[in-house]
Amino acid sequence: MVDLLCVIIGAGFAGAATAYHLARRGVSDILVLEQERVPGVHSSGRNAAMVRQVVSDPAIARLARQGASFLRCLPGDWPVPVLFRQNGSLLLGSGDGWKKLMEDAGLARQDGVEAECWSEEKAKERVGVLQEANFDGAVWCPTDGVVDIHALLTGYLKGAAALGVEVRYGCSVMGIEVRDGQVSGVKTADGVIRAEAVINAAGPWAGVIGKFAGAVDAPLRPCRRHLFVSASLTWVDPTWPFVWDVSHDLYFRPESGGLLLCPCDQDEVAPGDPPVDDSMAEHLAEKIRRFLPQMIDISIKKSWAGIRTLSADGRFVIGWDPKIEGFFWVAGLGGHGVTTSYSVGALAASLITDGVGEGAEEFSVARFMA
Ligand SMILES: Cc1cc2nc3c(=O)[nH]c(=O)nc-3n(C[C@H](O)[C@H](O)[C@H](O)COP(=O)(O)OP(=O)(O)OC[C@H]3O[C@@H](n4cnc5c(N)ncnc54)[C@H](O)[C@@H]3O)c2cc1C
Repeated sequence: MVDLLCVIIGAGFAGAATAYHLARRGVSDILVLEQERVPGVHSSGRNAAMVRQVVSDPAIARLARQGASFLRCLPGDWPVPVLFRQNGSLLLGSGDGWKKLMEDAGLARQDGVEAECWSEEKAKERVGVLQEANFDGAVWCPTDGVVDIHALLTGYLKGAAALGVEVRYGCSVMGIEVRDGQVSGVKTADGVIRAEAVINAAGPWAGVIGKFAGAVDAPLRPCRRHLFVSASLTWVDPTWPFVWDVSHDLYFRPESGGLLLCPCDQDEVAPGDPPVDDSMAEHLAEKIRRFLPQMIDISIKKSWAGIRTLSADGRFVIGWDPKIEGFFWVAGLGGHGVTTSYSVGALAASLITDGVGEGAEEFSVARFMA
């Protein structure tokens, strides 16, 4: 058996960014265990890649803004070139949703983010295909964009590896060893790996891993969401921002000469590789008919589903477990795990090494203790 300080379960954005930041803080002996043969098979490789800073929850918004400013300006020594397309975002709102959006934009501005409130007409001028859409107004955030998620994830992993982190692929954690209330190792098919700290960055499986350890029963729900890519469309302008109708739960953005679209479905599923539900294509078509009628004729060429893991209050779960010593959570990143990856990893690493982190109490798993 090898003596290891930290075992991180999962090489998605949560695990990779935490490994990267821990290594930068000088932690040696970090082992990342990933059940798949390659990284990014699950949520981190199946998302919409959008970086959005105007979000309702102020605690998540803070991490989103820190994460976004990192992505816009990667350090010179970043190991892989990562394309960030800063086309901005246009968030559409109606009724109370529009009022809430204006409040969120106001808070974002106080935090230094450019977030302008636009009339319906101005939004329609910017993105012509909205001509027949119905909404009360839009928030324009020019510093949002779309990031190359594969390059970003590779960057965290390469950066971590350069600092001595080992990533073992095809290695599934099947149990957590706990002695006298303290983590002592993880069980794998190849035997037990000793660990003083176990970091639960298992995405949709985070609840399962928590149960292995006998940790706090964090209410984490893996929820499926579908994405669709249209055939090529001559009228799509590749410089369009991503457009998110937050009142009607529908978004789209330019992708490969056509559009990537999402009906924002959210059905709870078991952790794993979620099958595509064919009825979701009709669900998307219905939303387009009602809210984006000019797009009614687009044809879909590809679709897939991924999992967003949501806690009961929608907030991330980051921090030491109060029941099991040495067990740490970085989970429940919901629909923000790309945008916040850098700041989530930094917060987690700071809590692990120094026991403190800005705003950490808001993400503590202790909030779910009975
Ligand atoms: C359709 C969709 C669209 C999205 N769009 C956006 C977006 O535009 N912007 C944004 O910021 N976020 C978006 N997200 C959210 C983002 O993708 C997630 O928040 C993020 O990828 C979560 O990362 P993770 O590392 O927690 O989970 P994952 O990427 O799922 O990583 C967890 C890893 O743990 C491994 N693992 C699990 N159990 C074990 C075990 N027992 N042993 C070993 N390894 C294990 C898994 O194999 C997996 O690789 C979207 C998500 C979806 C599904």
